Amino acid sequence: MRFLTADYLFPLHTNPIKNGVLQISDDGQVIAIFKNRREVNQDKLEIFNGILCPGFVNAHCHLELSHLKGRAEKGQGFLEFSKTISLRDNYSVAAKKQAIENAEQEMITNGIVGVGDICNKIDTLQKKQKENLKYYNFIETFGVDLNKVDTVFNQAIELRNKFRFAGQKASIVPHAPYSVPPVLMKKINNFFDDTDELLTIHMQETNEENQLFEYKKGAFFDWLNSMNACLSIWGSRNKPTDILQELSGKKILLVHNTFAKKEDITENYYCTCPRANLFIENNLPDYSIFDTDKLCVGTDSLASNNSLSILDEIIVIQNNSNFDLNTLLKISSKNGAKALGFEQLGTFEKGKVPGVNLIKNMDGLKFTPDCFIQII
Ligand SMILES: [Zn+2]
Repeated sequence: MRFLTADYLFPLHTNPIKNGVLQISDDGQVIAIFKNRREVNQDKLEIFNGILCPGFVNAHCHLELSHLKGRAEKGQGFLEFSKTISLRDNYSVAAKKQAIENAEQEMITNGIVGVGDICNKIDTLQKKQKENLKYYNFIETFGVDLNKVDTVFNQAIELRNKFRFAGQKASIVPHAPYSVPPVLMKKINNFFDDTDELLTIHMQETNEENQLFEYKKGAFFDWLNSMNACLSIWGSRNKPTDILQELSGKKILLVHNTFAKKEDITENYYCTCPRANLFIENNLPDYSIFDTDKLCVGTDSLASNNSLSILDEIIVIQNNSNFDLNTLLKISSKNGAKALGFEQLGTFEKGKVPGVNLIKNMDGLKFTPDCFIQII
């Protein structure tokens, strides 16, 4: 049994507690929270400098792209970036495997306990079966050419089944509004079963995406036409978020939203990946438009980021929003756990096994560039 205390305890299901104490079992299960150190046998107290919060949830990652770290040039826009992604197979199996191994270890070191991970391939499954982290695997479909929709969908079913048979959470999801025509969207929608908890989709990551749907022209329009894309993608939708009407009653996590406006925001969950947005588009969302009970944070892949660290992400959000520390930590843990259905993670509620992060080098209740995490 351990009794942990620091300058502040952030349970996230209740208000922060100055000098609060967290009681956990030896295997990390939350037993109780005490508002006062005097309620606890002083000999048993472990006292730390800094703040204590639950383990982080990385709501959006592409672990299988980890070997592309440092391969894309910064600030060149999405279409240039996608060329690097298209070369993902030009690397050895061993290099990919090692990069996945390193990336997972990096997440663990950075206090991440759960991940929403986009999968196009089987590459990460072996690692995930070790269950070092909790994963929700989103099997991504990208099918702009109508002639290939059936093949794309059948491959996704096959991949989803492999993940599920290995005991992993897995659901088939659309890549983005511009890469999934209504006919494929319908298949995804109809295929959802009782085991599927959440659907995720990249949304409004670039301004060209908005232009495609609003004006039926621009760089995305030309790019899609070069791939024999079917007209119904933009013909039946006048803005990217119109695709949400093609999904009936699903829990949805919309990722990026860099070019979303206040009127685009719905009741769904939202995920921001600030450092990837700065890397690719040199832009950030307007954080004032989101409901902070529904906002999550992700790292995106190492192809568009130089770290897999939720702390690095929320320092950017802190510096570009008026969110207080409790809100930033809710975004980092509680909301992602709720969106991804990780019931044991996200808060210091009794009975959960959420992981414990100690964040050091705070400036009062503000993060500094020198902050770092110690796993307790
Ligand atoms: Zn992504």
